[in-house]
Amino acid sequence: MTAALGDAGNPGRGGYGLAMRAADLVYEARETLAELFAISDPLRICFTSGATEALNLAIKGMLRPGDHAVCSATEHNAVWRPLKKLETQGVSLSLAQSGSDGIVPPQAVAEALRPETRLIVLTHASNVNGALNDIAAVGKMARTRGIPFLVDAAQTAGCVAIDVEAMEIDLLAFPGHKGLLGPMGVGGLYVRRGIVLETLIEGGTGSESENCMMPDFLPDRFESGTPNLPGIAGLRAGAAHVLGLGVGTLAQREHALSAHLVGGLEALDRVRVYGPAATGARVGVVSFTIEGGDGEDVAAALMREFSVACRAGLHCAPLAHLSQGTGKCGTIRFSLGWNTTEGDIDTAIEAVAALAMKGIRHGR
Ligand code: PLP
Repeated sequence: MTAALGDAGNPGRGGYGLAMRAADLVYEARETLAELFAISDPLRICFTSGATEALNLAIKGMLRPGDHAVCSATEHNAVWRPLKKLETQGVSLSLAQSGSDGIVPPQAVAEALRPETRLIVLTHASNVNGALNDIAAVGKMARTRGIPFLVDAAQTAGCVAIDVEAMEIDLLAFPGHKGLLGPMGVGGLYVRRGIVLETLIEGGTGSESENCMMPDFLPDRFESGTPNLPGIAGLRAGAAHVLGLGVGTLAQREHALSAHLVGGLEALDRVRVYGPAATGARVGVVSFTIEGGDGEDVAAALMREFSVACRAGLHCAPLAHLSQGTGKCGTIRFSLGWNTTEGDIDTAIEAVAALAMKGIRHGR
């Protein structure tokens, strides 16, 4: 179904045509995402405002005072801050350290477990250095021990193949606006059947309205209030486009482009690249520093002099920077997308080479 201007009904809030069309569209979005992530029941996908809300829902919905949680030392603040908040309420935490390439060895996660561990949270790929973690190995270990496993797929949904069954993922948080090519302000959480979460938000669902408590069935339990229909329609279209292109094809392309970028930057004097080697397990997020160059100045010069866009700083993931020794000033980061070209990569490498050679002028 293609969303049209007239599709302004409120899904689940009426039996008239517009509302029914809206409900169909929302269900088709769930079906498309379910196909993408090999989820057998589309109703186990709950829409949220993005990965942050999905992660908060999973983490706060699962953990109670006295519980222990394990996450990696490379997590984004969307994982780290909710966990630190819960720590003030009696949840204890352990960090699994990453190796020098930024990858978190499954063994490090296993060693951090305790008898009272109630949740393992791991990013699929670091948003700082692109390191891609072995989710299937951690999933297998978590399932064997009966510990729920939450994966932050912010950097991989739509860019790397994800199969929640094969990878033994219990909870999968994803944003709409990155690899899934949807709009900002939408994302979702997959909750495996049998995983019970407390609600984060309560309200009207258009179902069981006589019940003063939230329904216990999904997705209604976690979808109170009028949904973001334009966002969900956009996400459905983006995810369908990704399915059409093929995640495997997109992943291969992104890997080849990032290998080209990493290799090109690594060959430059005074430039240091972080994360896995060019051909290692990585996604298209590439972080580097230039000796003696302030990150913000480098970023400004890249845009001003070469029209190359990047981001400098801590990228909302201070833990990952502490782990790789860039905790004070952070890094400069390039992010590749489905429409990035070889030519774009060459332009970026030449721009960094020029800046590294002549030094960076302060000021933007
Ligand atoms: N986790 C990681 C690894 C991220 O890179 C991001 C955002 O960049 C998030 C979580 C938060 O995603 P969102 O902005 O959709 O809430």
